[in-house]
Amino acid sequence: MIGHRSETSTVGGAHFAFTDRWGGVSAVPYEELNLGGAVGDDPDAVRTNRELAAKSLGLDPARVVWMNQVHGPDVAVIGEPWGDRPVPEVDAVVTTRRSLALAVLTADCTPVLLADPVAGIAAAAHAGRPGMVAGVVPAAVAAMVELGAEPGRIVARTGPAVCGRCYEVPDEMRAEVAAVEPAAYAETSWGTPAVDVTAGVHAQLERLGVCDRAQSPVCTLESGDHFSYRRDRITGRLAGYVWLD
Ligand SMILES: [Zn+2]
Repeated sequence: MIGHRSETSTVGGAHFAFTDRWGGVSAVPYEELNLGGAVGDDPDAVRTNRELAAKSLGLDPARVVWMNQVHGPDVAVIGEPWGDRPVPEVDAVVTTRRSLALAVLTADCTPVLLADPVAGIAAAAHAGRPGMVAGVVPAAVAAMVELGAEPGRIVARTGPAVCGRCYEVPDEMRAEVAAVEPAAYAETSWGTPAVDVTAGVHAQLERLGVCDRAQSPVCTLESGDHFSYRRDRITGRLAGYVWLD
């Protein structure tokens, strides 16, 4: 895997990978491994970066499925790459195809990778504050269950994201989020209202019976090895990938 702070794991034939910002060809301010196609970077550089990242994971770049993420709760079930079809505006994708890899783009939002290796079902979700509140992760789990997954078998991995000690929000916003998901209530390291989106996601998964959960130790805003929208505004996107043997 490219990048010295990337994170990978494998459980029962399900593979999970989160990139860092190193090992690609993008120029400042997208240096180096920007995988986002809608952030102002050179499209050729993004294409090369996606090929480099896929190759380092042993994936075929043509079999990696990307989303058109809009901070909503919608889920698409997919059996083939989009090809010439328009990429739908969804924040989660689910597949039963072992030959596909699902990818999610982030720069502070929480990337969520899910797999039931026994049923052979994988999902990737993009959970920022609005998506977590809207329930995109429970919606992804529900779509998996509909296809035959069992929550007790689902392995969940959340990737690098802005942490609850850094994600400052207005007091009213924290109250709105906590009314939906109390576990997301947080305070910054400097004592102001904050939201912990990743904690909210894990609380949602725990309630659904997803026990095998792990969280990246990385806070994107604090890490110089990761892209952070809140820190840099104009910046690249990290990717999380999930696929099954
Ligand atoms: Zn932090």
